[in-house]
Amino acid sequence: MKTASIELFSEESREKLSAESINAMSEYLTGFHDPVFRDNSDEETATILCVKCGSHLYSGGLMDAMFSTFSWGIVHGDGFCTKCGWNYRMYHTVKCGEKEDPRFTLPLAYRCYEDDAMTKEVDPTAKKSGD
Ligand SMILES: [Zn+2]
Repeated sequence: MKTASIELFSEESREKLSAESINAMSEYLTGFHDPVFRDNSDEETATILCVKCGSHLYSGGLMDAMFSTFSWGIVHGDGFCTKCGWNYRMYHTVKCGEKEDPRFTLPLAYRCYEDDAMTKEVDPTAKKSGD
């Protein structure tokens, strides 16, 4: 599973940011997994799938009302997949020192670690025995 990177954003939106902001954004995004998109190029909006269970997490359209497994959590902007419980952040504000800090809305899966030193990352796609 790849780490989310600034490449997620269009070249046009990246050009609006200073080099410092791009660095701050890149640093921020290392805390998250790359989103997994369903290959649905014939539809208007791309569907983002859960990194762990592959369920329909978010497409930003009407289909979300019926199929989305995303649920808001207690912390503002955070939520989780109702099917498998993996944690997501939907609302992002990146402190960049710009006049206005860049904000975006996208369900990005938190990277999780087995230890406090953050050396052993949990692979969301790994199957636990008994699953
Ligand atoms: Zn899930």
